[in-house]
Amino acid sequence: MKTERYLRQILFHPIGKEGQRRLAESSAVVVGCGAIGSTTASLLVRSGIGYLRVIDRDVLEESNLQRQELFDEEDLREGLPKALAAEKRLRRINSAIRVEGIAADLNPTNAETLLRDAQVILDGTDNFETRLLLNDYALKTGTPWIYSACLGSQALLMDILPGKTLCLRCLVDSVPLPGSLPTCETAGILAPAAKLIASIQTTEALKILTNHPEALISGLVNIDLWKGSFQKVDTQTAPSPTCPACQKGEYEFLNAKGFSLTTTLCGSNAVQITPGGNAENGAKIDLVALSLRLQSALGVDNISQSPYLLKFRLKGREMVIFPDGRALLFGTQDTSLARTLYSQYVGL
Ligand SMILES: [Zn+2]
Repeated sequence: MKTERYLRQILFHPIGKEGQRRLAESSAVVVGCGAIGSTTASLLVRSGIGYLRVIDRDVLEESNLQRQELFDEEDLREGLPKALAAEKRLRRINSAIRVEGIAADLNPTNAETLLRDAQVILDGTDNFETRLLLNDYALKTGTPWIYSACLGSQALLMDILPGKTLCLRCLVDSVPLPGSLPTCETAGILAPAAKLIASIQTTEALKILTNHPEALISGLVNIDLWKGSFQKVDTQTAPSPTCPACQKGEYEFLNAKGFSLTTTLCGSNAVQITPGGNAENGAKIDLVALSLRLQSALGVDNISQSPYLLKFRLKGREMVIFPDGRALLFGTQDTSLARTLYSQYVGL
């Protein structure tokens, strides 16, 4: 480990040489590489963490550039999945760190594989379904995780330490119904609010990884940058006695009972389709063959293909297919239409 690079951080006495050494031997997983996940990943890599895995299911869009600091216009032209563009950028920031970008949709079939060995999990997701899946995995394995969210100018954060604090399920009874909450599609998002909560999230991760549990924030952080309000809400300290996840060990999201595989994407007019069983058995589809097949399909044009994805226009909408069979249909929020078009054109 090069001490010189991290000198200013080592001079901060709660970290010191010992903390820096611990950090160099530690690992974290960032789930979702959007506004929050981008900044958190960048800060962790600059801090000298040993290993960082970044999981993201999306392809970069122009509207992401307003707030997602790992990406630029060249990434947009290259059309890479965000996880792979993030990996490239993070390696340029700090080549000494082991960084792994995984372009995948975290779901019950792959969560235990993709989250394995994390000493802390950082929430950069945009939906409660995935957060409750992280919560289940964290409880089952005893892994700390840091819930973070941002909408408009408001940002929320809570440290969740299995067996020590309440869990996310203690706070929410179940997944909010579709359309019942504002999303970054309807309420927008202010980049500085996302970066602020990512900075707090990273600091909490540094406390965990350098063994400073006494410094962790207890309760729910609730900040509204536009209103200028900075609050820490002291949540109940003990877990809810009726919580199915942390009290009864019923991991409904990890066990897939509560998990759907067709989801609308926050911030995009798009639906994602994850074919059942594919992620689990590692099946790959032949994008070259599919691309050839689509060339004669009615209503399909503008086909472009790379080793990472196949993209085409389909009846005025855009569809992107990944090698694991996962697809994004842009231009709709209608999940049943997405399923229909997927089965008609991809045929899995
Ligand atoms: Zn709980």
